[in-house]
Amino acid sequence: MNRTSSTSPMGISVKQVAARGKIPNCQYCRKNIARGKWHTVNVSYKYSSQNTDEEKKQWRSQRHYHLGCFQSLNKKEQQQLFSIVNANSDIDESEKDSLDNALKEIW
Ligand SMILES: [Zn+2]
Repeated sequence: MNRTSSTSPMGISVKQVAARGKIPNCQYCRKNIARGKWHTVNVSYKYSSQNTDEEKKQWRSQRHYHLGCFQSLNKKEQQQLFSIVNANSDIDESEKDSLDNALKEIW
């Protein structure tokens, strides 16, 4: 029996690109996100229901975006991102302002 795979959103977070390890690629503009840069991480769990329940495959999908590449998120996720960024005192005010202005244009 084949049901379709589904994703359930696990939410938005912001992270700084680590000083070591893999440089993430923005899923929206397909460009690298620079080291040390605050960016959006969208985590979801994917299930494959082609297996029985006990064997149900679950894997974590992590998508990275520049803060400015929020267009790929839905409105609820954008609002989530906006409040997370604003609440984070480590993020530059200029970064917050540019996100703020960009969002004002589309909301
Ligand atoms: Zn981007």
